[in-house]
Amino acid sequence: MIVKHNKNEFEDYLVDASSYEGYADELLIPESVDEIKQILKEATAKNQKITISGAGTGLTGSRVPLGGKILSMERFNKILNFDKDRKTLKVESFVRIEEIADYLAGSGMFYPPNPTEKLATIGGNIGNNASGARTYKYGATRRYINAIDVVFPTGESRTIRRGEIFANWHKFEFSTNEGTSISFELPNVQMPKVKHAAGYYIEQNMDLIDLFIGAEGTLGVVTGAELQLLDSPEQILGAIIFFDLHEGMFDFLNEIRRENGIISPRLIEFFDDNSIMLLCGTIPHIPKNAHYALWIEIETSNEKSDETLANLYIFTSEFTTLVDDTWIAMSEQEHKRLAHFRHQLPLAVYEKIQQYKQQKLGTDSAVPNEFVKEYYEYMVNLFKQEQLEYVIWGHIGNSHFHANILTKDEDEFSRAKQIYVDILAKAVSLGGTISAEHGIGKIKKEYLKILYSDEVIDGFRRIKKAFDPEDVLNCGNIF
Ligand SMILES: Cc1cc2nc3c(=O)[nH]c(=O)nc-3n(C[C@H](O)[C@H](O)[C@H](O)COP(=O)(O)OP(=O)(O)OC[C@H]3O[C@@H](n4cnc5c(N)ncnc54)[C@H](O)[C@@H]3O)c2cc1C
Repeated sequence: MIVKHNKNEFEDYLVDASSYEGYADELLIPESVDEIKQILKEATAKNQKITISGAGTGLTGSRVPLGGKILSMERFNKILNFDKDRKTLKVESFVRIEEIADYLAGSGMFYPPNPTEKLATIGGNIGNNASGARTYKYGATRRYINAIDVVFPTGESRTIRRGEIFANWHKFEFSTNEGTSISFELPNVQMPKVKHAAGYYIEQNMDLIDLFIGAEGTLGVVTGAELQLLDSPEQILGAIIFFDLHEGMFDFLNEIRRENGIISPRLIEFFDDNSIMLLCGTIPHIPKNAHYALWIEIETSNEKSDETLANLYIFTSEFTTLVDDTWIAMSEQEHKRLAHFRHQLPLAVYEKIQQYKQQKLGTDSAVPNEFVKEYYEYMVNLFKQEQLEYVIWGHIGNSHFHANILTKDEDEFSRAKQIYVDILAKAVSLGGTISAEHGIGKIKKEYLKILYSDEVIDGFRRIKKAFDPEDVLNCGNIF
């Protein structure tokens, strides 16, 4: 195991992509599961705080330590086994999402979750139940995790395989490999019926593996995982469709989301008028009258791709006068152009934030599909009333927005923070969630109370206590 005591050697581990900063005494880089078991056993015995570190691309400060030791998983970076018959891939937890995609390229199979940040690790993705554009069709990380190898905060361990350990109504009871029994009750709570990543996953008769996915590393260290793969589609048709009016865009969205529609995309991503204005600065040939845009991808076959394209043209022409300006992608090069359009946006926003020297304030909320337009208009009205600069994009297929408020001084920032609370409260009042994919971590804890009562949050604490009696692992996340 590598141990670093000098802060200069582990400064990078004291932040994540949210820029939230922490502090620690030591960085530990274990090289085997036994070393992790020993670290955690000792931590529980001596009541030392341990914070698990993935790639640090998280946006809520969840890997940022608040004292104690950092446990970096970076040596757990191997792809262990590709089982073509079972369509599974066994990996260690620090394997990055882009490494999985590269490894599977040309195999005829793919791992469906595709969060935008490809440097993130599978351990981090499990920690946050990460999702991506394709979640619209395929769901989030949770659905593709068949099994995880876990070391609990006490230093004991167990492989948790989907389908093996279930709650009896609200009560769990199971044993570690070492024979210790762990039992606890789930709080009585109904999670929002939308894409959701805030707090523990709770459902009566649930599978134990689902409790760990999205638990932000608070219940154990994941050392490895078995991923479920799917057969790759033969051909993918991509399009960026520009709209002159937001009514047309929302009508298009509602129609395309109808089940068994003629066009059935695997992703639907949204860009508002301010996103387009920002992108016009760096990306050429954006049509002049474009105010809104949707990026979609449709799975098709070589044989049917012309027909799919023709159907898309006919379908789209009902909703926008800019149908002839649609950007279409079939080849790898063309798909890259569309992905570039999407990826440039967070970078352009980041540049603005740097320019204004203010903290980033971005939502991650989602609402039930029937309220998507109402929610969007609610946000825009608030921003306009308060005369705040904003950029909204997101995974609109799942009615999930990232509204970024770009404040220029302290006064704007404090008004924006109030609005931010109103926006989350509105999402919850519509049956939605305060976080659909980034989680709560350390910086969004105060907002969890908008969604859940103290009683429910206490229920989360009791679950944590059952796994982590001395409260040593990833303290400060979620509650
Ligand atoms: C530009 C950009 C785009 C992004 N796009 C998306 C997106 O599309 N979708 C999305 O969901 N997120 C997105 N994110 C957020 C981020 O990439 C995800 O939250 C990701 O899951 C974090 O992975 P990581 O390896 O960087 O984990 P870290 O940030 O290091 O850690 C995240 C959490 O997981 C825990 N953890 C890490 N490894 C383990 C382990 N082995 N066992 C137990 N717990 C562990 C950590 O302790 C922490 O609580 C984006 C971030 C950026 C900067």
